[in-house]
Amino acid sequence: MNFYSLHKKAPNVSFKEAVIRGLAPDKGLYFPESITPLSTEFISNISNYSNEEIAFQVIQQFVGNEIPEEILKDIIKETLCFDFPLVDIENDIKTMELFHGPTMAFKDVGARFMARCLGYFNQNSGEDVTVLVATSGDTGGAVASGFLGVKNVNVVILYPSKKVSNVQEKQLTTLGQNIKALEVNGTFDDCQSMVKNAFLDESLLSKMQLTSANSINIARWLPQMFYFFFAYKQLVDKKKKLVFSVPSGNYGNICAGMLAKKLGLPIHQFIAATNANDIIPQYLTTEAYHPKPSVQTISNAMDVGDPSNFIRIQQLYDNKFTALKKDLYSYSYTDYQTREAMLYLYKNCNYIADPHGAVGYLGVKTYQEKNPNTQCIFLETAHPVKFLDVVEPVINDSIKYPPQIQAVIDKKKEAFSVENYEQLKSFLLKN
Ligand SMILES: *Cc1c(COP(=O)(O)O)cnc(C)c1O
Repeated sequence: MNFYSLHKKAPNVSFKEAVIRGLAPDKGLYFPESITPLSTEFISNISNYSNEEIAFQVIQQFVGNEIPEEILKDIIKETLCFDFPLVDIENDIKTMELFHGPTMAFKDVGARFMARCLGYFNQNSGEDVTVLVATSGDTGGAVASGFLGVKNVNVVILYPSKKVSNVQEKQLTTLGQNIKALEVNGTFDDCQSMVKNAFLDESLLSKMQLTSANSINIARWLPQMFYFFFAYKQLVDKKKKLVFSVPSGNYGNICAGMLAKKLGLPIHQFIAATNANDIIPQYLTTEAYHPKPSVQTISNAMDVGDPSNFIRIQQLYDNKFTALKKDLYSYSYTDYQTREAMLYLYKNCNYIADPHGAVGYLGVKTYQEKNPNTQCIFLETAHPVKFLDVVEPVINDSIKYPPQIQAVIDKKKEAFSVENYEQLKSFLLKN
């Protein structure tokens, strides 16, 4: 399987090359040349397969011959070393908990899969590869943990100073070894734009092998399809119209869900639930796409003013607005509404949601007002402990640190300060 650049001004490349490059030379995102639906028999018998078998079926066509079958199966096995439970919340509302991995956010799956693919591709090359990534919170920790100790791979993570939670900061600044954290005096968009600059800087690229681990990388993006299949597998009633509400920031996760639908998973509709960064809700209302500087919210992993994966969603619908609008609804919520939802879930459903999950839940509630008799699943993308400062005052209760968090919380932070692209560049060249 080859991948083409969505800007269409770069050569098509193999899975391996797309993973190593991250972004195409023309700055476009890579997209699969073809998408072949899975057999209806597989989908209707999905409950008989293990998660690992499902994942293999789902991703195999995209990887092709680039990774031998047995190795791909091992990579999948190591990637999926935790559970993905579907939890009842209310009548016709469930949540899928994606936070049972090492850093307690859904990004663990993509990061672990990508780290292992890259490790495999780079195993015999004499040259180290540097993974450069910008994080609004959870990516950093997941990438740091996923790549920790992977040979011949160095990781450099940029994060916006004071805009990630204490737990998140600890997860990305305390691991050491091949992981370096850079604290940027700015927003996530500033971090992301510095990373983009690095990938366009020929004088830098001629001196080092650089790749990205942001959700634009196909090895992070594609495995996110697994969740939607795992959710479907666990559904008792597979007949009722199925709707997913996905808390969305860069729109990689939801885009993977939409790809899962293309592979034949019977999903009736998607809801992109978001915070005050309402570029996509606005776009779906007005058909005008206006990126804006991101605003800070309590669901900070979604503080994105120009969602990078949205162009892939448009491509999935051949850039046809009407078709897209039929499958994708999108709503924006304030921090006040998000807190109210967290409190409601705690009091009435005995469920502690993190701010992102709460936004997903709100998306379901809005949708079901006009669409009763649908079976809705919102994705719980992070454990509430990752957003302790927000969650505890709302529910007026304390949350215990799970072992994964306990292991990092008392460790010493190590980060380098970075103000602008020139400083980033000199850091990369020195390290
Ligand atoms: C990254 C993240 C999101 C947003 O996911 P996208 O794929 O960027 O849309 C939502 N919630 C949490 C907790 C995240 O870490």
